[in-house]
Amino acid sequence: MRLAGKVALISGGARGMGAEEARLFAREGARVVMGDVLDAEGRQVEAQINEAGGEAIFVHLDVTSEEGWANAVQAAVQRFGKLDVLVNNAGISGRSAGDGTAEERWDRVMDINSKGVFLGTKQAIPEIRKAGGGSIINISSIYGLVGSSGYFGDDSSDQEQADHAGSSAYHASKGAVRLLTKATAIQHANDGIRCNSVHPGFIDTPMTETSFAVPEIRRGRESNTPLGRLGTPQDIAYGVLFLASDESSFMTGSELVIDGGWTAQ
Ligand code: NAD
Repeated sequence: MRLAGKVALISGGARGMGAEEARLFAREGARVVMGDVLDAEGRQVEAQINEAGGEAIFVHLDVTSEEGWANAVQAAVQRFGKLDVLVNNAGISGRSAGDGTAEERWDRVMDINSKGVFLGTKQAIPEIRKAGGGSIINISSIYGLVGSSGYFGDDSSDQEQADHAGSSAYHASKGAVRLLTKATAIQHANDGIRCNSVHPGFIDTPMTETSFAVPEIRRGRESNTPLGRLGTPQDIAYGVLFLASDESSFMTGSELVIDGGWTAQ
């Protein structure tokens, strides 16, 4: 098994890609802690994994809370004795940043998508160091590599302004994750801690289900992706598994793009 003996903490592990990574990691021999704000969904994933013969626990975690991160890391150590792998997966889209002004949406997206990764890394590193090194995987996006269209004209409505702020913040937040990854990789190479970013393309998950339910949007995403389809959570989970395992032991500070060829165009 590719993760035998390892203990992994996955943020945003209650659904979507994070839940798929938790299930795959457990099948590959890891003991897994999932942290999320969605308690009911998280407990379901926990039950599924344990019923299938794996070992997992769910903890309530809001990634914007440093105390929450400290609790999640301690839960891993108390239950499974150590921490080897952190997957900073939790994130929100610009559209799901809630109601509010452009500035409030910007702050919310940056808090969860960027500061959350910083806080998780800060809290996990001492324990991963104690374990003799390990791997941190940060989920960025193709939107952390390239921009997309938006409009801040004088004639746009407050709602449009707020939507565009969410989208701008998403790009900025995922770009920050890309560079925070490289800084972490350099700063902790001597500790034997590797850190890499993953850049998914358009993936079918609860985050995207509302927009992909619109046939024109779905068809547009599919036809603009060279491989002609949306990605699945499994497509991403296998890349994250590789980075978590010792198979990638000479990789740090790098970017794994899993996007069906979208950014190659
Ligand atoms: P999702 O919405 O299905 O899952 C994200 C999870 O993060 C949810 O369980 C959610 O509750 C959790 N979360 C949100 N805010 C949180 C907080 N403050 N504290 C703890 N948990 C929180 O989305 P997904 O598509 O599985 O996305 C996973 C990651 O992949 C995100 O970082 C996202 O930005 C990124 N991503 C997604 C796509 C895509 O097309 N779906 C593309 C590129 C990158």
